[in-house]
Amino acid sequence: MRSNAALQTYFNRAADNLDLSPSMRRLLLTAKREVQVQIPIERDSGELTTFIGYRVQHNDSRGPLKGGLRYHPQVDLDEVRALASLMTWKTAVVNIPYGGAKGGVALSPAELSTRELERVTRRFVDAIHDLFGPDTDIPAPDMGTNADMMAWIMNQYGKYHGFSPACVTGKPVDYHGIPGREEATGRGVGIVTLKLLSRLGRKIPGTRVAIQGFGNVGTHAAKYLADAECRVVAVSDAGGGLFREAGLDVLELLRYARGNGGRLAGCAAGDVISNDELLACDCDVLIPAALGGVLTAANAPAVRAAMIVEAANAPVEPEADAIFDGRGIVVVPDILANAGGVTASWFEWVQNRQHYQWGLNRVRQELDRILGEAFEQVWQLSTSRQVSLRTAAFMLGVGRVARATALGGVV
Ligand code: NAD
Repeated sequence: MRSNAALQTYFNRAADNLDLSPSMRRLLLTAKREVQVQIPIERDSGELTTFIGYRVQHNDSRGPLKGGLRYHPQVDLDEVRALASLMTWKTAVVNIPYGGAKGGVALSPAELSTRELERVTRRFVDAIHDLFGPDTDIPAPDMGTNADMMAWIMNQYGKYHGFSPACVTGKPVDYHGIPGREEATGRGVGIVTLKLLSRLGRKIPGTRVAIQGFGNVGTHAAKYLADAECRVVAVSDAGGGLFREAGLDVLELLRYARGNGGRLAGCAAGDVISNDELLACDCDVLIPAALGGVLTAANAPAVRAAMIVEAANAPVEPEADAIFDGRGIVVVPDILANAGGVTASWFEWVQNRQHYQWGLNRVRQELDRILGEAFEQVWQLSTSRQVSLRTAAFMLGVGRVARATALGGVV
């Protein structure tokens, strides 16, 4: 997880390049609103438990606030604050008309029953229903939350404000959600990877890809890249990974994992490797798609990939980023690489507002276009200003938010 300090480093670097005034920097670094609420619920046992919920609404100068809702025991205001600002820059990089927000409740989902999680979710909506909605702030799933919970949010919000499917995204496809939302982050990772390869003048077929994390993002990225004839030489999950120089059969791995509780353990499709070995394996593109902070000053020198695509949020620590920069390893930053999810959330919101359904093909087409354009803009800025793709992406995002803030007027 990226700390506020690391994010501020990237923000300041972009702000220096953009010549932003100290007063504009302070405005952009401060959240518009931070809310903390108590969420008391009756447990199945009859006992009372009070959870703490947060919503940080960072910046809405470019449109309604947008960001996930996380259920995790380590959720606190500091983490939610950092993730909210990350959303502001991410929505601006892909140029969708949203600001940035994030929410969370400090709890361990595995320790609560489904009914208890439903009570927490509905009570949280009771506490903040006046602060979010289709035109103000639109939550979505994040770590520990899922599509069913988004359905509960929509339903509970509707009790106060009437039928409003656009008040939340990431809903089940058969309950005002859209096809293509679930695959969108992984697909987006695949799209920007192919764009990068062509910009670097490298051939796509046969490109060796290693992916850490075989969950939602990792599996969809693997499938997309294998379909494009890349060679997926390594994959892993929390239990370890597999390596095969000639390329792994991604569909076979998916079938195996599906029949094995989502896990790769015991699969004989390649040589067994550890997660540390995966990060240092012989490949062209390394895609960390599991956790934050996995590439550090300690293991960065061992990385052999020529390109890193940040599918997870903040997998590269700032010290590792500097090492990769020095070694000429190209890093596509998270605020561009994993923006496919929020982009598809925008499509869901647009369709909910129109009471109309596009269908999967159009969702994919629009995603390809938006991420392709965003990649091109970041690439151009990086080339013309001679800065890394990360600095260029932050410059694009921060610059757009600063301009919208100035245009909107601050007096
Ligand atoms: P997920 O829970 O579906 O999958 C996570 C995968 O990582 C699993 O295969 C798990 O086994 C693996 N993993 C867990 N701990 C690991 C470890 N210590 N070492 C190696 N692998 C480990 O999650 P996801 O939705 O695929 O998200 C992955 C990352 O992408 C997260 O950082 C998330 O914040 C980020 N992200 C996700 C989305 C989205 O739309 N799902 C959008 C933006 C960013």
